[in-house]
Amino acid sequence: MKAIVAEVITCRTCELWRQRSNPVPGEGNVDAPVIFIGEAPGYSEDVKGRPFVGAAGKLLDELLSEIGLSRGDAYIANVLKCRPPENRDPSSDEVAACTPFLDRQIQIIGPKLIVTLGRHATSYILSKAGFPVEGITELHGRTFTTRLLGLQVTVIPTFHPAAALYNVKYKRGLEDDFQIVKFELEKLGEL
Ligand code: URA
Repeated sequence: MKAIVAEVITCRTCELWRQRSNPVPGEGNVDAPVIFIGEAPGYSEDVKGRPFVGAAGKLLDELLSEIGLSRGDAYIANVLKCRPPENRDPSSDEVAACTPFLDRQIQIIGPKLIVTLGRHATSYILSKAGFPVEGITELHGRTFTTRLLGLQVTVIPTFHPAAALYNVKYKRGLEDDFQIVKFELEKLGEL
């Protein structure tokens, strides 16, 4: 994982390095049974070089705590390691350039559960596992048990915490979906 972090820091594979303040490789427990995957760093993450440390991160911390988890029990990463200007959506070229890092992180951590936060992480992971990608409203809270990158994993798509800051419907959806995360971790003997 240290090698990946070093490579992310010097990465110039796409153009996002030009405008970033800091890359955000990801952080947490490399032996964690669960990895949470977001979209890309936002303003606060770009400033601090750490994932989910702004308002969306505060909500993520609350959601984790509601199911008895802390950051130290999980690994948190993003599809993109650098902030897109004005938080625009990741381009397909940027996703293609950056996701080899995420793939390697997943292989090192070897999680039993992958929670995808929002449509970008969900579509990357589910399409990689060969599932048809529908909208996040249809997919959230479902469990997809599959082989991915040589691992047997369960994928649980949910809403992005940033969306829940503006829409209580997504917040309730996230809370419900985190109960499913809790149930799956208990079933796996990991909680
Ligand atoms: N949104 C994301 O998708 N990731 C972060 O790290 C922060 C906000």
